[in-house]
Amino acid sequence: MEVAVFGTKSYDRQFLEDAAEGTDIAWHFIEPRLTETTAPLASPYEAICCFVNDTISAGVLQKLAEGKTKLIAMRCAGYNNVDLPKAHELGIQVARVPAYSPHAVAEHAAGLILTLNRKYHKAYNRVREGDFSLGGLLGFDLHGKTVGVIGTGKIGQIFARIMHGFGCKLLAYDLHPAEDCQKIGVEYLPLDEVLAQSDILSLHCPLLPATKHLIGDEAIGKLKPGAMIINTSRGGLIDTMAAIGGLKSGQIGSLGIDVYEEEADLFFEDKSETVIQDDVFARLVTFPNVLVTGHQGFFTHNALEAIAQVTVQNLKEFAAGEDLTNEVKVS
Ligand code: NAD
Repeated sequence: MEVAVFGTKSYDRQFLEDAAEGTDIAWHFIEPRLTETTAPLASPYEAICCFVNDTISAGVLQKLAEGKTKLIAMRCAGYNNVDLPKAHELGIQVARVPAYSPHAVAEHAAGLILTLNRKYHKAYNRVREGDFSLGGLLGFDLHGKTVGVIGTGKIGQIFARIMHGFGCKLLAYDLHPAEDCQKIGVEYLPLDEVLAQSDILSLHCPLLPATKHLIGDEAIGKLKPGAMIINTSRGGLIDTMAAIGGLKSGQIGSLGIDVYEEEADLFFEDKSETVIQDDVFARLVTFPNVLVTGHQGFFTHNALEAIAQVTVQNLKEFAAGEDLTNEVKVS
């Protein structure tokens, strides 16, 4: 089976090639992302493989349907960039990798907290320049702090356990409380209560119409003043303009994000020689209390190996005409 891989990076190639060894999958690696412009490149392929920032809108799906494409194998968990009803209408199946390494993302969220709090990024540079002063590096003990977890699915549960290990008090908001979290003493409360009581708020729910801009002006107004916000889920959960307002007023004490609502034109590429056109992003990175990483939460050896293996499994099921274990269906 020939499969076109959109938005290929060297690491995708390495892990996908290893996972497909001994199978009849032949990868066709394509560097550009999937967009309306690049969609015709998919036309000879029955299956294509996509990632978080590919555009899989109604228009793109229409173009895919004009070619041979019958399966979109997402090499990620999230599928908010796919117009599922349209895919369904056109008879294009969508499969994903529901869990690869929830530890990778949960640990990255913990890393953002530690870095923002203890300022490792500043300390690293300072010491390399022979500056051993401590001014500006003052942090706080995580022990005894209240951490609010929004969304206690696979990643949120592991994140809660990590923060439990630090001796934090844990609150959570989820439509479906998790027994494993309750067992370690996580207290489920309404969203407003979690916002009001948390010293650190970490977002782990999916991006859905109901969660878009979950953290906007109203929610920010309800935060404990000076709270830290961490987002390793999807950029659209935070209204960036509202967050900038919250940072300027001090209502948000610090912000650590691995995802950004307009990241598609920025992340995963080397833009170091480019003038950034996104003024909102440019403002965001001027704050001393904002830490941005470029969607690397998933980026561990273990996760990439698991993503490639499950993607190959999804493609094998499709080729064999079997039901897809990891099919994303319209709810
Ligand atoms: P999951 O499906 O296991 O858990 C999501 C949880 O969110 C569920 O418990 C669900 O009940 C809850 N939820 C749904 N709607 C909600 C709402 N309106 N309010 C509160 N909670 C709600 O997902 P997961 O594997 O834990 O992943 C969480 C998110 O992390 C994904 O949606 C994805 O966007 C993101 N993610 C990011 C990276 C990265 O590299 N930064 C990697 C993988 C996943």
